[in-house]
Order: sequence, then C-alpha cells, then structure tokens
Amino acid sequence: MGSPSGSDAICAADPAGLLGKHEELPINERQRASESCTCGPAHLRLRSEHGELVKVRGKCVNKCSYCAKLAAVENCEMLMADALDGDRPTLIMILGTRTATLNMREFEAGRQAVVQKLRRRWPAFEYAYQVEFTTGYGPHSGGLRRPHWNWFCKGVPVGCEEEARGLAVPEWCRLVDAEPHAQYVDRIDNAVGLTKYVTQHFMKASQAPPAGFTGQRFNCSKGYFGSITRATARARAKDSLALGRELWKAAQRSSDAHEIELTAQLAHRRNVATRWVLASETGARLSAAAIPLRAPRERLALQRAIRDRRSARRLAQLVSPDWMPHRETLFSDRA
Ligand SMILES: [Zn+2]
Repeated sequence: MGSPSGSDAICAADPAGLLGKHEELPINERQRASESCTCGPAHLRLRSEHGELVKVRGKCVNKCSYCAKLAAVENCEMLMADALDGDRPTLIMILGTRTATLNMREFEAGRQAVVQKLRRRWPAFEYAYQVEFTTGYGPHSGGLRRPHWNWFCKGVPVGCEEEARGLAVPEWCRLVDAEPHAQYVDRIDNAVGLTKYVTQHFMKASQAPPAGFTGQRFNCSKGYFGSITRATARARAKDSLALGRELWKAAQRSSDAHEIELTAQLAHRRNVATRWVLASETGARLSAAAIPLRAPRERLALQRAIRDRRSARRLAQLVSPDWMPHRETLFSDRA
C-alpha cells in the first residue's frame, strides 16, 4: 500500500463526496444486500417494556459485515473521543507482510518484539492497532489479500519518528516476512483527523478480513486510554453513539437546535432506562430480564444453542442459571 497521510486525504477530498461512517462504494451485490445483521438468531427478538420488538444482533464481526461495520464505528468513536480528550497518539505505523495468510499467530512474535523494543526506549509507549487486509485488487497483489496492522502510538516524542522507525521496522522484518521499504512510520500531525480517516477507511468491508478469519481485529495496550480501561472507553463510545443517533433522528423532525438537543436528550434517557426481554418472533416473552452476555463461556454456549435452533427451554437448561431464568419464569409474562 502507499503512504496515506490522513490529514492530506481528508483535506483533498471533496466534502460533498465524503462517505459517512457506515458507507463505502458498494463492491458487489452481496455487499449491497448486507445492510442488516445476518448473524443474529432469526427466531429470537428483543422486546422492550414499551412494546418495541427488534431483531437480536449476533455481533459475529468476522462473519457478518453489518456487525463488523458497527464494531468499526464503535472503535472509531473510542479512539476519536480519546484523541479529543487531549491524550493524542503521536505516531502511526502501518506494518504489513508479503504473506497472504489468515493465521495471525505467525505475527505475534513480531508484534511483541516491536512493542518491547519501543517500550524499552520510551517506557510510556502505548499502542492501539487494528488488523486489515489489502483488497487483492492491486496490480502486484496477484489477487491475494495480505494483512497489515495500523498502529496508533502514544509516548513517542514528536521528532523521534526516524528513531522509532529504526527500532520498529528492522525488528518487524526480522521476525515477519516483510520488506523494510514497504513499512510506513510517520508522525501524526492531526490526531483527530487521522484517527477518523484510518479507522473509517481501513475498516470498510473491502478491507475486512477474508472469510475464515477468526482473530481479533482491534487491540490496544492496557494504558492506551490513560486513566480509564478499554471497557469504560467502549461503554462511553456506545453511549455517545446512542445519543448521536437520537440527535440525528431529532434533526429529521425539527430545525430548532434547542428542540433537537432536548428531544434527543429525553429520548436517550428513556432508552438508557428501558428494560428489554428476550422474545419470540411474535413477541411472546421468553426471559425474565435481558441477558447480560458478559462471560465468554455463556456467550459461546448461547451462540451454539441458537445456531442449533434449540427451544427456549433447552437454552435455559444449557446455560448458567445465574443469568438465564429457570423454566418456571421463562414463559411467564408477569413482571
Ligand atoms: Zn450480525
């Protein structure tokens, strides 16, 4: 890939032609049709206490392009909010490889060595990276799609870009099938603009991992978000996006700024306080309360059971009773 300068790319683009957070040029019919979740359980719904019935999203980001897109928007929001808070990344690295593979373990040693090397030089070094794949459309690609990692780095002083390059690139190329001239390391001048550009551009469906990829697409060091954890940063990003959606809806109905803000804030508060239950396609209640799918084991058990299209009763027997109601409460519509 070339050497994208995020701020340049943003400035050069025609504002009228800019694509939104959820958009890119459609590549094929399949992609045009993927404007809704395809990985959720088709026979289950979530029902709010206000009577709304919505489809359940599966959130399988490596299988469903819609869920991947929403996860990308969330990651973008997290990184953007962090950059706007003032603790901005100062360095971008785009590290790639000549190997077209889905096995991310091959690069684990390279990634660790780069982090170790940079942290030894700058103890405050923190990073966030996301893995993307080349499109395979390039003249020299041979139709193969290769992974590359977009790193946002903090703790590297401005002006030390060459030194960082001198430390990171040889280490990466020593352990990974990669050529030094194909790696990109540069200063970030406009952290907010570049974060937005990279996270939105590189997480488009055309750069998404090929089918069969099972790895993690986004990762960051423990200290990347400063005094807050990644979970807190994600929760804040979700909240901010939810409010943004209400602002957008309110703006469709009114042009008065005060009214838009008030309507959106009230709707957002209502949404936050709303309780959801698991329901059937027709709206019949299946659970006593919304399921907090926090534990990975429980999530996996539910995903497997949903895939096998087992009954709600069987689901309840399969998973931990701590979060799934007992059979007696499963079909009760009483509060
Ligand atoms: Zn999905």
